[in-house]
Amino acid sequence: MGKKKDFLRRIVEEDLKSGKYSEVVTRFPPEPNGFPHIGHAKSISINFGIAKDYEGRCNLRMDDTNPTTEDPRYVEAIKDAVEWLGFEWDGDVRYTSDYFERLYDYAIELIKMGKAYVDSLDEETMREYRGTVTTSGKRSEYANRSVEENLDLFERMRKGEFAEGEHVLRAKIDMASPNMKMRDPLLYRIRHAHHYRAGDKWAIYPMYDFAHCLSDYIEGVTHSLCTLEFENNRDIYDWVIDTLGLKPPRPYQYEFARLNISYTVMSKRKLLELVEQEVISGWDDPRMPTIAGYKRRGYTPESILNFCDEIGIAKANSVVDVAQLEHCIRDDLNPKVPRVMCVTDPLKVTIVNYEGSEEIDASYYPHDVPKEGSRKLPFSKEIYINREDFSENPPKGYYRLTPEQPVRLKYAYIITCKEVIKDSSGKIIEIKAEYHPDSKSGEDTSGIKVKSAIQWVEASSAKRVELRLYDRLFKVESPQGIEDINPDSLKIIKDALIEPSVITEKPDERYQFEREGYFYADPVDYTDDAPVFNKIVSLKDSWAKKNTAQKQAPKKPAATQEKKEKSKTAQKGKHEGELAALSEAEEKRFAHYTETYGLKPQVANILARDPKLSAFFEQTLNSVDAAVTAANIIVNDVARALKEHPEDASNVTPEAIAELASMVEEETISSKIAKDVFEEMLSSGKSPKAIVEEKGLEQISDPAKIAPIIEEVIANNPDNFQKYKEGNKKLFGFFVGQVLKATLGKANPKVVNDLVKEKLEG
Ligand code: ATP
Ligand code: MG
Repeated sequence: MGKKKDFLRRIVEEDLKSGKYSEVVTRFPPEPNGFPHIGHAKSISINFGIAKDYEGRCNLRMDDTNPTTEDPRYVEAIKDAVEWLGFEWDGDVRYTSDYFERLYDYAIELIKMGKAYVDSLDEETMREYRGTVTTSGKRSEYANRSVEENLDLFERMRKGEFAEGEHVLRAKIDMASPNMKMRDPLLYRIRHAHHYRAGDKWAIYPMYDFAHCLSDYIEGVTHSLCTLEFENNRDIYDWVIDTLGLKPPRPYQYEFARLNISYTVMSKRKLLELVEQEVISGWDDPRMPTIAGYKRRGYTPESILNFCDEIGIAKANSVVDVAQLEHCIRDDLNPKVPRVMCVTDPLKVTIVNYEGSEEIDASYYPHDVPKEGSRKLPFSKEIYINREDFSENPPKGYYRLTPEQPVRLKYAYIITCKEVIKDSSGKIIEIKAEYHPDSKSGEDTSGIKVKSAIQWVEASSAKRVELRLYDRLFKVESPQGIEDINPDSLKIIKDALIEPSVITEKPDERYQFEREGYFYADPVDYTDDAPVFNKIVSLKDSWAKKNTAQKQAPKKPAATQEKKEKSKTAQKGKHEGELAALSEAEEKRFAHYTETYGLKPQVANILARDPKLSAFFEQTLNSVDAAVTAANIIVNDVARALKEHPEDASNVTPEAIAELASMVEEETISSKIAKDVFEEMLSSGKSPKAIVEEKGLEQISDPAKIAPIIEEVIANNPDNFQKYKEGNKKLFGFFVGQVLKATLGKANPKVVNDLVKEKLEG
């Protein structure tokens, strides 16, 4: 399946193919008046990404034409952001201010052609003369000045002979143009200000509309990619280049949608306000949507680039759910980072029947994480657990430690509570417990049933750490500014306890603190004596729940399911095409599917966007009461079939899918076998029931039938059995897999799991 290219890449490809340009040259042109934010990351990813994809060049240009707001500190922040994201600009950093002399010469040329004039109207009259969208404007009487007079005035403007606002230089275009921007736009204005690079040399500064197109031309830029709000400026861009008769190849401007994110403000002006009002600690505060903020918080460049890829490049503005960005960071960290234990609200536990100490081997990358590495956890009589992992009066469904209910200390032993010690106010200050010597994880022969395993750290070796728990900076979806700040955006925990390996071994800078979230050693404040960790992101999206509770229409978390599928096979850095926002009707359907049928947002999102699939889904539900199962089959199998085998798709009816889903629901077949049945149905046109009967695909759930198969698998793999017994618990999956394979996938996976465990441990 060929990937759909975004519209900018299609244009670039076309231009290279037609020979319009021999090489693509783009540029990222920030104004150094603030730290770059995630919106700039999108622009960086587009400009540098396209140059990279087509073996061209991308310049980094400081668009520094406004002396009063610019600062070398911001230049450094911009360079740092581009480098951190992994891009390289062509040659040296460029500055529009380096072109001031050449720009001035171009202005002189326009004056000489009678295409620019010095205007001396006061600001208010000038505004009045500009007209409105419905009425045409009126040209200033100063437009009749002779070329000589204009040249003289302009030169004296440059020398600083006039006050600010006394004169401006304007292009002579068309005061009746329907595009208001073309009504004799300003080219230069007087500013008696010190420029951080040009010093005091200039008393006039070029306007964006004049400087930008010419800077692009001077640098040999081919594709000048900017955001939609510049759409109307494109006419000026072309007018300047055309009027000056600049010889080709010349640049052309293309616009794409600006990135907006929910719960976030994204303009340097508003961000500067937060900095100046000291609402946050600075531009690099980990709650800021700046690159510096994300970097300090522990986001990875990969996750930000993946996010830019996922949102795609569109021509219509929309708001992206911040949950999508958070999802990208989780997705990136999950397989990469070590998992360790941290107790955030310590409660002392004394194990009265334990003497001495030992070290317990624990993997940094348990189960699904495909990485090797482990550490030793010290264990002794005194440990700490999380206060919330003990309950004296447990609510229903409480799986952790209670006076009646034992619990496993993760990787270690099962303990039973013997005594609860309280202070005079009634607060629990210590638990006295007994451990079960024969219950050690991996070699448990105790037969004691527990419902969960909890975090713990050994008292004498644990390190005290500060945790900075960040939440969204704003409490509303579309924040205006300071008034919408989330008062709980930062919580500090001073006395969390962490297992020693994190401080001494430092297997990584980023960790998953089990059950707590992803954390990053704060690059500014961390010291070995006083370690500080920033919470990068929680393990799950805690805002999704809040939102549905408030009955707000859920925002699309994009086609995450699809993306996950793709990202497994696709390499990074390739674009997925455009992704538009959900329409109102789609949004409604999405809400209905998640709320009424309990579909996962990713699944609901795919259905809601696709009228054919959603109609199919709804018809299926007329015949079966298994929405989740049916939706999964439709989103995965039906959708693919419709795309890849439209010729066979007439076999795929809502009734047939209902039949298939009900067999899965009733556990007649596993969902894995359901896939095979679907394929067979597609090619033969037979009904799912007939296929299952004919091929004997019914699921085997009877332990008496499965047990002998397991024994056989164990007998055939004595070496692995031995290794498992010696502690290589990862081989559990191997045995389960072998058994499933031996039954051609027909065995009930749940039953197999339980039985294999029994046989291996027994
Ligand atoms: P802000 O309004 O936040 O100050 P800006 O557009 O003034 O942003 P510039 O420094 O002029 O910021 O922008 C540099 C480049 O980044 C421009 O090409 C601009 O179009 C692009 N850019 C800025 N904000 C976004 C955004 N939210 N999404 C995509 N691109 C953006
Ligand atoms: Mg700006």
